[in-house]
Amino acid sequence: MLPRPVLQKIQEELIDWQNLQQSVLEIGHRTTAFTDFVLSVEAKLRQILNIPTNYEVIFLPGGANLQFAAIPLNLLGKNSNAAYVDTGIWSRRAIMEAQRYGKVQVVASAEPEDNFVPAQTTWADFKNAAYLHYTANETISGVEFPFIPDTGSVPLVVDMTSNLLMNTLDVNRFGLIYAATQKNIGIGGLSLVIIRNDLLSQAMPSVPSVLDYAKQVEAHSRYNTPPTFAIYVTNLILDWINEQGGLATLEKINRRKADKLYQCIDDSDGFYHNGIEPICRSLANVVFTLPDEKLEQLFAEEAAQQGLLNLRGHRVVGGIRASIYNAMPEEGVDKLVAFMHQFQLKNSDR
Ligand code: PMP
Repeated sequence: MLPRPVLQKIQEELIDWQNLQQSVLEIGHRTTAFTDFVLSVEAKLRQILNIPTNYEVIFLPGGANLQFAAIPLNLLGKNSNAAYVDTGIWSRRAIMEAQRYGKVQVVASAEPEDNFVPAQTTWADFKNAAYLHYTANETISGVEFPFIPDTGSVPLVVDMTSNLLMNTLDVNRFGLIYAATQKNIGIGGLSLVIIRNDLLSQAMPSVPSVLDYAKQVEAHSRYNTPPTFAIYVTNLILDWINEQGGLATLEKINRRKADKLYQCIDDSDGFYHNGIEPICRSLANVVFTLPDEKLEQLFAEEAAQQGLLNLRGHRVVGGIRASIYNAMPEEGVDKLVAFMHQFQLKNSDR
């Protein structure tokens, strides 16, 4: 969900943006107004995430799946080996895509259970890799890295599509951070890439120009016509984050939201079940199962009748998933917890 004030602002401003007598849906991406605007969005993000000056920020068309290709195409220039950690469906998608462009070494895997993150002491050696990639939060299975890997001089690359901006982050630990924006940073169709500038000179000659990070840095994310509306929504989200008190405040609220749900699950005598190793339980995606699929269906239906929407798990894994990104207010989680208690009381002897 998007924060309600953001939706209201979009509605208010849609016809006339910045008193230009044009909608943001119509504005030319090369106008001074939009050029200045992109720079201001970047500046806002730099302030919120405390991004050091030796990092570049770019907004790229397309979602995270496109970055699965862009990353090897941009970083595998001289060294054709990349290391990946496999913690679930999204890391596997990233691995499959990277395999089209170079040699991929899977240094650790959480298969078959996909309910934990392998400790770094168990990983294979990857010191000759061009980079190490991991998925900070597996959105589908609800598994989150409880640590930032230590990769020495090997650049660390992370997919933060489902958890960037949910808490504070030390950007210095990373070579590259990327996220599609549709979870916490806006709407679909746009990705955010934060890249340390020494990594901008190793692209493969075959990289499509639109995906070439160096070209996009030079063009301030406007090598081609960018998804202007998506960038506009991201700007409103960044304002909203600042109004909430920034990432430190959001982190506290997000922690409380997740704790309430996990507590409810753990106190349910097994009626609700989350099998993720406790330290790897996701802050963003709380997944759980009920005693059988019929009950899960009933749960989702009755929840929807109370305005608790989109609780079905991802179609690949089933079950229930409560995605509690930044925009989900704590009262929404309280309402879900109350519903879960009621539902259990009504159905536990079936
Ligand atoms: N990585 C993660 C962690 C995701 O959650 C998703 C989308 N849910 C993706 C990648 C793919 O993003 P997109 O659909 O924008 O390509």
